[in-house]
Amino acid sequence: MKALLLVDIQNGFCPGGNLPVAHGDEVVAIANRLIEDGGYDVITASQDWHPANHGSFASQHAGKKPFDMGELSGQPQVMWPDHCVQGTADAEFHPDLNVEAIDYVQQKGENPAVDSYSAFRDNDQAALTGLAGYLRAQQVSELDVCGLATDYCVKFSALDAVEMLPGVKVRFISDASRGIDPEGVKAAIEEMKTKGVGIITSAEILAD
Ligand SMILES: [Zn+2]
Repeated sequence: MKALLLVDIQNGFCPGGNLPVAHGDEVVAIANRLIEDGGYDVITASQDWHPANHGSFASQHAGKKPFDMGELSGQPQVMWPDHCVQGTADAEFHPDLNVEAIDYVQQKGENPAVDSYSAFRDNDQAALTGLAGYLRAQQVSELDVCGLATDYCVKFSALDAVEMLPGVKVRFISDASRGIDPEGVKAAIEEMKTKGVGIITSAEILAD
């Protein structure tokens, strides 16, 4: 079975959102084409879903500004602007994304004491989400990953997929993803390549 994982294609990470990724909204049309014509058996999506007091928010740390480095539960943590707070428009999927076609939504980042870049587990790797179990139950053998943002949640999700789903072929769809920092994106792609993630474009998938 072939599966697609759409990472955090939410208002909060698109222009106008609280933690906008430049041109983040450009992935929506590509994601919709992949959903429609990508030949996937299973469509999954992750959704950053924070309580208002989440510890990754600079607002929760005296003297910290967004994008400062700080600490969360003893681990280094980027201090983010408040974003994707549960129940707000910022946390909703982009309005043009074909959410009807999504079979399984994995919410993440609910524990205020730890951030969760990966759709598979928290950053401290202690608590797992249900996504790996769901994909195993669907007998998925190929997983393509794309979305927002390449250098954080997409990268960590792809790397965890390789590690947690042995035998599953994992690929990153570059043109269906956008990143926060250009240098970070380059480094993320190199790291994914090194660790066994295939790098492809949507054109290669849609041409099949
Ligand atoms: Zn977040």
